[in-house]
Amino acid sequence: MTANASAPGETDWRRATELIRAADTLALACHVSPDGDALGSMLGLGLALASAGGQTGKKVVASFGDRVFAVPRLLRFLPGQHLLVEPSAYPAEPELMITFDASTMERLGLLAPHAGKAGELLVIDHHVSNTRFGTAHLVDPGAASTTTVVEELINRLGLPIDREVATCLYTGLVTDTGSFRHSITTPAAHAMAGRLLATGLRPEEIARDLWDRSPFAYLRVLGTALGRATLEPDAVGGLGLVWTYVSRADRAEQGLPYDEVEGMIDVVRRVDEAEVAVVLKEDDEGGWNVSTRSKGAVDVARACTALGGGGHPRAAGFSSALSVADTMAALRPLLAPEGSRS
Ligand code: AMP
Ligand code: MN
Ligand code: MN
Repeated sequence: MTANASAPGETDWRRATELIRAADTLALACHVSPDGDALGSMLGLGLALASAGGQTGKKVVASFGDRVFAVPRLLRFLPGQHLLVEPSAYPAEPELMITFDASTMERLGLLAPHAGKAGELLVIDHHVSNTRFGTAHLVDPGAASTTTVVEELINRLGLPIDREVATCLYTGLVTDTGSFRHSITTPAAHAMAGRLLATGLRPEEIARDLWDRSPFAYLRVLGTALGRATLEPDAVGGLGLVWTYVSRADRAEQGLPYDEVEGMIDVVRRVDEAEVAVVLKEDDEGGWNVSTRSKGAVDVARACTALGGGGHPRAAGFSSALSVADTMAALRPLLAPEGSRS
């Protein structure tokens, strides 16, 4: 199926609001290993619907399909977590299932079969690579975050955005714009932040929870990973590659949980001599999750998609069952600058 490169039209919005109004039970799901945009968009809409559900009798459940079901520590401040259920308690054949920030059905992990059996499947996302795997779609590749799409949906449903809902939506916005630093930081993104801040949410508390705190063990593990960082000036067509890895043994030595190393790419990607930065992170089961970032000359989403993952042109990822060396050997040749590809 081809990716949809345009914003949702009036027909898409009408269909989405009609599906939501008609359903008694709403089953929400975001992508596995949820980030701030995935959980923020899901819980934001969930909370808005659940408060309205008090009047309409709608039931809302939310989940994500990780084998080990746990909200990452960084995101435990998000309101609305009472809506979460384990994948084992998720409706097997939901009347209406809504997905968030997931570009493919596979990104739903354990909940993918539920999506396959849903009566209606509404896909809400902003990845240009979205495969439109639902029966209805709100996919806007021009949106800074999935929470941007959700904000408009809540408005079109005529539901209020209180401080708790706004906290969820803002979290997705600041996560995916990298605190308003990435190229997707449009006037619309700042205008949305302004509307959300007007509810009284606390941006400094959200920022600290998301980026400015960690257990001491993180410094040790970061030190180990940075100590073995490799700079390859000739890679990426001479634009340079910097990469490192964090093994589960590194983390076990310091007693550091996996989700604490998710943000390490933000340290590694600052290197001036490299167009592309890569961090390979080993999870507790021994699989590797690979984070890639580019400064704009390389489409890392293309490279990661070729290896079974996906993402955005400047921030993408994939999973690998290979060794660190073999994973890098597979990735390196795919990191060609735009226009240099034959
Ligand atoms: P991360 O490096 O984990 O922050 O991921 C950056 C972006 O890449 C995410 O926002 C996702 O869009 C995408 N991504 C990461 N891992 C995967 C994967 N295994 N499959 C598809 N997309 C991914
Ligand atoms: Mn995401
Ligand atoms: Mn997103």
